[in-house]
Amino acid sequence: MIIVIKKNANKEEVEKLIKRLSIYDVTITPIEGQENTVLGIVGDTSAIDKEAISINNCVEKVLKVQEPYKKANRKFHPEDTIINANGVIFGGKKIPILAGPCSVESEEQIIGIAKAVQKSGATMLRGGAFKPRSSPYSFQGLRAEGLTLLDEARRVTGLPIISEITNVELVDLFNESVDIIQVGARNMQNFELLKLLGQTKKPILLKRGFSNTIEELLMSAEYIMSGGNENVILCERGIRTFETFTRNTLDLSAVPALKRISHLPVVIDPSHAAGINWMVESLAKAAVAVGADGLIIEVHNDPANALSDGAQSLLPSQFDDLMTKLKAVAVAVDREI
Ligand code: PEP
Ligand code: MN
Repeated sequence: MIIVIKKNANKEEVEKLIKRLSIYDVTITPIEGQENTVLGIVGDTSAIDKEAISINNCVEKVLKVQEPYKKANRKFHPEDTIINANGVIFGGKKIPILAGPCSVESEEQIIGIAKAVQKSGATMLRGGAFKPRSSPYSFQGLRAEGLTLLDEARRVTGLPIISEITNVELVDLFNESVDIIQVGARNMQNFELLKLLGQTKKPILLKRGFSNTIEELLMSAEYIMSGGNENVILCERGIRTFETFTRNTLDLSAVPALKRISHLPVVIDPSHAAGINWMVESLAKAAVAVGADGLIIEVHNDPANALSDGAQSLLPSQFDDLMTKLKAVAVAVDREI
């Protein structure tokens, strides 16, 4: 961090500022130039509030040299992180495909879909049990029973399972039940939840909030990682823009951006980005081409009667066809599905 001191700053105020900064684990070096004096601050500056420093009378401006995320930062961890979620590897050459319905609706539904996606080559089963719906009148999920049915589908097919957690009280239940805990877009900045997930060892799929920046996503990953759980998989699922044609705008550039500045694997969710089934194939192919480390795709046996997100769900036959196409794209970018 660099603090530029005002030209005619009061010396006592500068000394007071230096004293205040010396409570942090940093080295402060005043550098007197011809025009300005600057304070070079080296060390762990993550706890220093840049905005608060900048309103000191003697301060011209404050420049942050380092990113605020550390554990998620590639600078401190140059190699790609590989995450093993009950045998499914994220961050390697092979691209895991997570598929299943938006919501678990019944035993017949989840087992039928699990068997179908497994046959097509999916590596993991997704299914929402606790659903964060925009309307309180919409289907809220089968809740704990949904997790039991997912467990049953795992037992029948051998596919590991991923499901979304919605609040802090559910951490123990999810920790015991699923192979990856999904944090949805709406909870990306539920910091109390992130802190508790940091105390588990469970892989976490952290979805980007629809109005959050890439840096905010990494700061949320930092919450989990700084608590001791470094098994974080990032997920881009579309963000809000002025465009209304699609449900969200898939930020494909988030993949190369995140992979440049972070070592964590990045998964893409083309279903929630598109919001409409016919576009999922194009976005999924683009995701593989752009370097995604995994895909999470909604598949339903009866999309027209699905209890949530039917419009964006693929039929098992469409998913099967998509898998064939994705394999070819993966080969073209030296990956495997
Ligand atoms: C989901 O995966 O069904 C879901 C609700 O996703 P998101 O948090 O991305 O909206
Ligand atoms: Mn959904």
